[in-house]
Amino acid sequence: MKNVYMDYAATTFVKPEVLEEMLPYFTEKFGNPSSFYEVSRITSKAIDDSRAKVAKAINAQTSEIYFTGGGSEADNWAIKGIASAYKNKGNHIITSKIEHHAVLHTCEYLEKQGYEVTYLDVDSEGFVNPEDVRNAITDKTILVSIMFANNEIGTIEPIKEIGAICREKKVLFHTDAVQAIGNIPVDVEDMNIDLLSLAGHKIYGPKGIGALYIKKGIRIHNLIHGGGQERGRRAGTENIASIVGIAKAIELATENLEEHMNKMTNLRNRLFEGLLKLPHTTVNGPMGDKRLPGNVNVKFRFIEGEGILLSLDFEGISASSGSACTSGSLDPSHVLLAIGICHERAHGSLRLTLGDSTTQEDVDYVIETVPPIIERLRKMSPLWDDYNKKGEV
Ligand SMILES: *Cc1c(COP(=O)(O)O)cnc(C)c1O
Repeated sequence: MKNVYMDYAATTFVKPEVLEEMLPYFTEKFGNPSSFYEVSRITSKAIDDSRAKVAKAINAQTSEIYFTGGGSEADNWAIKGIASAYKNKGNHIITSKIEHHAVLHTCEYLEKQGYEVTYLDVDSEGFVNPEDVRNAITDKTILVSIMFANNEIGTIEPIKEIGAICREKKVLFHTDAVQAIGNIPVDVEDMNIDLLSLAGHKIYGPKGIGALYIKKGIRIHNLIHGGGQERGRRAGTENIASIVGIAKAIELATENLEEHMNKMTNLRNRLFEGLLKLPHTTVNGPMGDKRLPGNVNVKFRFIEGEGILLSLDFEGISASSGSACTSGSLDPSHVLLAIGICHERAHGSLRLTLGDSTTQEDVDYVIETVPPIIERLRKMSPLWDDYNKKGEV
């Protein structure tokens, strides 16, 4: 049977070159980096080298990179750590309505602790307006957190402009760049970024490892207390193999970035072109170079995404729908609702995210497979029936 994986925004496989670099750190190179003998010097050097690789990929200094237990932890640490360290300055945080839950739920938690959070609206393509950020800043604002690129609809936010406004207003700026790293250029210096989150398993590295970039001089409180690892800022014996893995993954991803972007953009455009030939089918998110190269998200009117996913799964295609990513939830995605799509239409959305193993043949297979599924599901849909009897209501 066909096996076409098109859910790279959910997770990626680990590249063989990455795994190969990781393996010795499970067996012969197992020393605790905090100890004082040769086997621990080997692991502590591996961590230093990895930190330098991650720093280089985003144009940071090595000392500004801290390893975490994933993207969610990096987001939690950035927001809770800054909120706590700067609470004497103010209690106001600005974010957007389309952030990942690792940011949104952290902000909701802080609201319960007495912080005030502004959730900025986005436009119909998912863009945050930098002027809205400027207008939301008050003398109590301590942090702005806006994602670099959206995981559902691929919108690439005007990060450099938002960063410049935060610098001007002397407010710290955090960005969740989990989907951006390895897919588009990221430069913390040029883009005025103070804190940046990234994760291993979205860039062909292992799961359960991430990093937070913290610009030199920024005060932040710890999320994890304990030993003195990560220069006293993140306790716990280091996940050395995964640290080596995320560093190798980010190195490979940034080395081949342009080639990867061109390949993904071409495949994405071909897939869009094929799918948009279907009647009553439209794009979610922007088109062109302000969209993540490998992200396709379309809505098919009069049907439910769950039905599409089941049928696609039956044909060997792994994709994701317009429902919240928590499995079993039938709530429409908060991102699709925020760009102004109503519940019914949000449900009929399909996200296909492309990656390293995706071929033109895969894209063509999806283009052939989807139309008869949509046709069949519409035939069973009371909404479609209504539309044909009464026209647009
Ligand atoms: C996947 C993802 C996260 C969470 O990262 P984990 O490593 O799975 O915790 C955060 N933000 C975005 C935008 C993501 O896509």
